[in-house]
Amino acid sequence: MINDLFLRELVDSISQFVNEKNSAKLPISLHEPDLVNTNSLDYLKNCIESNWVSSGGEWVKRFEKYLCEYTRAKYAIAVCNGTVALRLALYIVGVRSNEEVLVTPSSFVATANAISHLGASPHFVDIEPETLTISATKLNNRLEKIAIKRDGFLFNKITNKRIAALLPVHVFGIPGNLAPLKEISKNWNLPIIEDSAEALGSWYKYDSNLMHCGLMGDIGILSFNGNKIITTGGGGALLTDNKLYAEQARHLSTTAKIPHPWEFFHDQIGWNDRMPNINAAIGCAQIEKINQILDKKKKIYEKYNKIFSSFDFVELVKKSKNSTTNNWLVTFRLIIKDDDYALNIRNKILELAHRNKILLRPIWKSLYKMPMYLDCQRDDLSEADFQEKRLINLPSSVKLLK
Ligand SMILES: *Cc1c(COP(=O)(O)O)cnc(C)c1O
Repeated sequence: MINDLFLRELVDSISQFVNEKNSAKLPISLHEPDLVNTNSLDYLKNCIESNWVSSGGEWVKRFEKYLCEYTRAKYAIAVCNGTVALRLALYIVGVRSNEEVLVTPSSFVATANAISHLGASPHFVDIEPETLTISATKLNNRLEKIAIKRDGFLFNKITNKRIAALLPVHVFGIPGNLAPLKEISKNWNLPIIEDSAEALGSWYKYDSNLMHCGLMGDIGILSFNGNKIITTGGGGALLTDNKLYAEQARHLSTTAKIPHPWEFFHDQIGWNDRMPNINAAIGCAQIEKINQILDKKKKIYEKYNKIFSSFDFVELVKKSKNSTTNNWLVTFRLIIKDDDYALNIRNKILELAHRNKILLRPIWKSLYKMPMYLDCQRDDLSEADFQEKRLINLPSSVKLLK
């Protein structure tokens, strides 16, 4: 049994650290952007003075170039948010209505929503406890049980729907275990879209090279929402090394217009997905500071690591040895066997912290429990259920160190 006193001590230690510099006002939220002391005002002024505030413009080009340089992606296409980036990426690799996409239940709702926005359905497969990403072993077992190849395409024997893609997520910036998933992707002829919304600055060792998250599969996506590692206000991007996919992304995100000085000719039903210039200007000022941001994130992780080492009923979630994480959110896990008891302690910690105006958050509720996804295809999801009762995220904004 864990004495309430220990819980109070834990929350007090967190409270002491997040209030240390006291530049942070209460309440302390999970993740806030850091825009002061960047060039964003100058860059925004330039947008306004040049009248280039809408989609397209020099700052968008420059932001895309910065993204390519930083991640070593051949192509980066900036769009208006991460959800749109996911929907566009899924469409480009061939996902259409009435098809299924294999996905983890442990993600932000946007991951499943992007699949549904195309009229397709999520098909949930369980996670592995270390990286919190979809488990390759469980995925392979699931495919052996329910999948069948027909004319080069993969189908679900139960629903008769085509299984069109695999969508792993790099959770909280921790790189998922992509090598075995890539193996499965080859064997089953399944394109991979990586949800790297939280993983700018996270790298994975693959074939002895360090690769940026999002580049191991066919297309990866990033989000620049206000709570992510860097922000453009709202925004997202597709990363890919595939020229054809990059061209399609550009074309479809700009209403599928055939370039011409005056004619309006569009050859498909496209979208208006592009990132406005003013957002890209903020993004440029942010990515210029990414190394400083990542250094501070690492320090925050180390601070918490010290605090948590004095409590034996909790541990921090660590990256795997083959990867580097951006430490977007520091996450801890309750080391408690019994499910009901773990959930009870989890809720007690959340309540105590919120009473102290420290807005700790549990990991997302598993997506298969949401009303719109109750009827989706799913495998046994007991690991996701297990983690849901035990994982809590800590305030991780860089301004905690100022
Ligand atoms: C933030 C996020 C998204 C969506 O990005 P938006 O820019 O908010 O649309 C998708 N997936 C994950 C895992 C995210 O954290």
